[in-house]
Amino acid sequence: MSRFLDNPLDPASSRLNQGFFRLSQGHLSLLSTCPRKFQHIYLDQLGLPTIPEEQQRQVLGTHFHQLLQQQELGLPIENLVQADPHLQRWFEAFTNSPPQMLAGNRQSEHQRSLCFRHYLLTGVYDLLILGQQQAQILDWKTYARPQNPQRLQQNWQTRLYLYLLAETSDYLPEQIFMTYWFAESRGNGAEPHSLSFTYTAALHNQTQKDLEHLLGSLTNWLETYSRGNLFPQVSLDLGECDGRHNRGNSGNSEASGCRFAIRCQRQGPSQTNIALPTMLDQIQELPL
Ligand code: SF4
Repeated sequence: MSRFLDNPLDPASSRLNQGFFRLSQGHLSLLSTCPRKFQHIYLDQLGLPTIPEEQQRQVLGTHFHQLLQQQELGLPIENLVQADPHLQRWFEAFTNSPPQMLAGNRQSEHQRSLCFRHYLLTGVYDLLILGQQQAQILDWKTYARPQNPQRLQQNWQTRLYLYLLAETSDYLPEQIFMTYWFAESRGNGAEPHSLSFTYTAALHNQTQKDLEHLLGSLTNWLETYSRGNLFPQVSLDLGECDGRHNRGNSGNSEASGCRFAIRCQRQGPSQTNIALPTMLDQIQELPL
């Protein structure tokens, strides 16, 4: 996940007025999930150290992306494949069940950016294929295909990546689609490893409206934050806040509950099914 380029509270630079904020899909997801959590992580810089298992998983994910990038560039990959059994298994799955890919100009680790209001929206495509009539965005995930594809379609990664390409190329929305490839298998392994989402002008317009609304809110929150007010919390009563999940039961402090519960004064005994998992918790982002 990329970070803000600068601290918006820096009075000397007043970056907000200069339009220097870079926002990735991770920022948008977090903002939509809980603005206060966004504040804690990016403005207050209160991110806690990652637990070792999560760290190891992220490193493996990064290596898998490097592996596929090197293969795409025609570079040697044997040493990387042999480095870890997970990488071997995932690469074997990719070789045996690759995603369907367009014919066209292929660009690995391709970055797209777009100025939008005071912000620079950015996305890094694991692979972009530009064909004659269509364009395909591909993204590699080292977990299993989600059981509810609609949630992935509504995730900010899907929405932002499709939006960025439509805005920064000559392709019409209907000529663009995005394919996720999942390294892990669920159940008996019969499930396909890929999942594709098409795009339309209607979806594009909706994303535009949602971006305007979300980033308009962000601008207001940043301005009030600079005057000493906090970003809004999500509702406990509506089940949007996971601050009261009992973090002790799972034995894994990252498995449930918001790490900012005490700071938000949302700590306490679990309430019956009061908290829903957040989108970001379900769809971990891999650092590239
Ligand atoms: S405790 Fe609730 S309101 Fe506070 S940051 Fe976490 S999710 Fe947001």
